[in-house]
Amino acid sequence: MQAMNWDYVGNPWAVEMLRTQIVQDTTRHAYIFAGPQGIGRRTLALRFVQALNCPQAAVSAEPCLSCRVCQQIETTQYSDLQVLELLEGKSEISREQVRLTQQFLSLTPYQSKSKVAIFRDFQLASAGTQDALLKTLEETPGSARIFITVDALENLLPTTVSRCEVLSLRPMPAEELANTLHARLHVEPEKARLLGHISGGRYGYARLLAEDESLLQKRATWLDEWSALAGMNRLQRFKYVEAGFPKRSKLTLKEKRQELAEMLNTWMSFNRDVLLLVSGAGSGLMNIDRSGEVERVSVQTTTFEAARTIRCLERAINRVERYLNPRLVMETLMLELEGAT
Ligand SMILES: [Zn+2]
Repeated sequence: MQAMNWDYVGNPWAVEMLRTQIVQDTTRHAYIFAGPQGIGRRTLALRFVQALNCPQAAVSAEPCLSCRVCQQIETTQYSDLQVLELLEGKSEISREQVRLTQQFLSLTPYQSKSKVAIFRDFQLASAGTQDALLKTLEETPGSARIFITVDALENLLPTTVSRCEVLSLRPMPAEELANTLHARLHVEPEKARLLGHISGGRYGYARLLAEDESLLQKRATWLDEWSALAGMNRLQRFKYVEAGFPKRSKLTLKEKRQELAEMLNTWMSFNRDVLLLVSGAGSGLMNIDRSGEVERVSVQTTTFEAARTIRCLERAINRVERYLNPRLVMETLMLELEGAT
């Protein structure tokens, strides 16, 4: 029974709920899967589509995950499935993209019973664009199904949320995730424990870290750089920004932006740990391999300062997501960290 529980890690209640709906034929037209990146929102939507369409899933809604249909859905090469996401070089999901997907949903299914669209990271659509989808959510054509993934529910219009079944996906406890990584991917226990923590309980992200050793090395470099920045003056910080980003100029702009977002998120997780310690919480650290450093920084700062640093990083992450130039994002961050703006 390889496909039991949809071969999906975390949030078993969500799998059970969706599976039961399929078995009892009570599925809804539109769903929202909310939660942080790397937690498995898209995967859950794909599993649902597989459970609906796999020829072997008929009674139990347990897709085999290996037949042609399951494979096509897994790789989003399935003719009745469309995934809408932010296009390269764009700062938001456009109304035109939504319109084309609406058109797709109104067509007759080609190889299955229903057309399915996944709207990925719909927080990247403006209120106007989200609004354009409302009518489709209200009167979904025929058997069509819509999945919206979002980082946080408050980034969707309340009118969107109220028209969908909402599943809020939660991170796994670090230890449980560590055990899963060990059991499923044969990650050795010590490393599994580390990944369980630094991934913040997100299986998708932990798996990426487990499968690509260079990601952990990058993280170590970024954390070292963050420490170094603390001891620099303004001139040195700007030199760091200048040297840091053109140095990796072989990357495309999209890759640079992705890398910067990862770096900022790494710094963010470190500073969240600092804030945890400053505010007196003794447990729940993510960067357990850096606990000495977190401690050292936390005795030199205040809750106010630590919270301010986090806000600066949040704004920087937001700017990267809004497709601002990476170098500009970093320069602004350096100024904000000093309290200069
Ligand atoms: Zn199958």
